[in-house]
Amino acid sequence: MMTNRPHASPVRPLVLLDVDGVLNPEVRPGPGWQPHRAQSPIGTFDVILNPGHGRLLLEFADRAGADLVWATSWEHYANHEIAPRIGLPELPVIEVNAHTGAAGIHPKTPPVAEYVAGRPFVWFDDDLDPADTTFLERHGSVGHFRIIHVGPHHGLDEHHLRQAAAWLASLPSSHENRE
Ligand SMILES: [Mg+2]
Repeated sequence: MMTNRPHASPVRPLVLLDVDGVLNPEVRPGPGWQPHRAQSPIGTFDVILNPGHGRLLLEFADRAGADLVWATSWEHYANHEIAPRIGLPELPVIEVNAHTGAAGIHPKTPPVAEYVAGRPFVWFDDDLDPADTTFLERHGSVGHFRIIHVGPHHGLDEHHLRQAAAWLASLPSSHENRE
């Protein structure tokens, strides 16, 4: 039976993006990746970026009805140093650098847990451990999530996006918060 819930707003999943080891791999995977010098919060670095990644990510997020968000130590620099070079618009930023972290937990993980506030999320990262998964599972403001572990050597590819799309498609259709 169809129910009319005019005040219920669907919760859009989040797609969390890392830069180093995900969009900026350790080695150049192919001719599609281009070298750049880029300014980060802690200095200037050589990066290798794929100008096609933005379109892939935007199409993926659009199909999934999800919102892209930066979860990277590049923080706001990602919006002017990385996004324009891969064809992404300015995205919201999870400020991950202020957190000192906890024993055995990646410093990004507590601020990510606070930011998601119960929204389902997929997290593309190369540097998370089982302890981060456990932390998220036990955190009161974290609902459904899936970490897609990206190998830093070659970075993000279509296989990771297919994994993420399959998981997002498996979510309850209401995408309701856990609480
Ligand atoms: Mg990384």
